Amino acid sequence: RAKSAGGNRFELADPEADARAITRHGLTTALPTALERGEFFIEYQPLVHLGDGSVRGAEALVRWLHPQHGVLGPDRFIPLAEHTGLIVPLGRWVLEQSVRQAREWRELHGGAEAMGPLRINVNLSPCQLTHPGLVQDTVDILERTGIEPDALCLEVTESALIGADDDLLKPLRRLAEMGVDIALDDFGTGYSNLANLRRLPVSILKLDRSFTQSMQQFPADPVDLKIVEGIVSLAHSLDLAVTVEGVETGAQAEQLRILGCDTAQGWYYARPGPPERLHELALVDATG
Ligand code: C2E
Ligand code: MG
Ligand code: MG
Ligand code: MG
Repeated sequence: RAKSAGGNRFELADPEADARAITRHGLTTALPTALERGEFFIEYQPLVHLGDGSVRGAEALVRWLHPQHGVLGPDRFIPLAEHTGLIVPLGRWVLEQSVRQAREWRELHGGAEAMGPLRINVNLSPCQLTHPGLVQDTVDILERTGIEPDALCLEVTESALIGADDDLLKPLRRLAEMGVDIALDDFGTGYSNLANLRRLPVSILKLDRSFTQSMQQFPADPVDLKIVEGIVSLAHSLDLAVTVEGVETGAQAEQLRILGCDTAQGWYYARPGPPERLHELALVDATG
């Protein structure tokens, strides 16, 4: 206070920005111990087949149960974990937990003949892609768990792969050759060259939520419809499946089904939730 009186050297404080910075700093320093203390947990959101409405799998979404701040979503801490490098052990932990969970569902569902094996989708951050242990860690986790590679799908955002050179794509290629599916997440937001898709070892496009949002009105904007129709037909001609994110209403689901999308995910079906919930949804679905 005394110092600031001496001149104009101090900017007026923005208390909210300060609070945000303090929290960010606090969260960053708390991250490593959070992993050791088991403060992270995973919610699962079903992936539903648009044709028949069956649950085909789930996306794993990490959360942090912070002792002071309560449950924090990934947008609050994944960027910090990427910045500090904690994303590598955290991502490995998410992968192992999720694959174990997928095996548990499989065991629980042994009796439900009608149901195929549930697949598990796990998000990968760009830092994990450049980490040399990615392929071996994934192989180890799959072997330890006894799950076939084709039950796993790794989601990488379109923006992480824009302009990717061969070195960056190599680990993804190896994983794809093993049978792991690679999905291009948030597709349509990254301005990538569509012809570039041929080069990427991906088998699934996850159409960004913004497209789903534009299907809110019925009938939807005709230009948006054309765009989605075009993406779907290009994807299918390249043998890629199309998943849509953020489906919140039945009208959106119907519109996207008509446009030829294969799988959907969103609050209309279920919010992300505990693994028991996914198990119930899948079981109800398989047994009628
Ligand atoms: P994402 O991979 O695109 O995941 C979809 C996000 O959309 C999730 O947000 C999900 O809760 C939300 N969502 C699902 N359905 C709806 C809907 O109908 N309406 C709306 N408005 N939102 C819906 P969440 O859980 O907050 O995750 C945000 C992002 O954090 C994810 O986006 C993903 O990029 C990242 N993330 C989550 N878990 C992990 C992880 O384990 N590792 C890494 N590297 N990133 C993760
Ligand atoms: Mg994702
Ligand atoms: Mg996404
Ligand atoms: Mg998204």
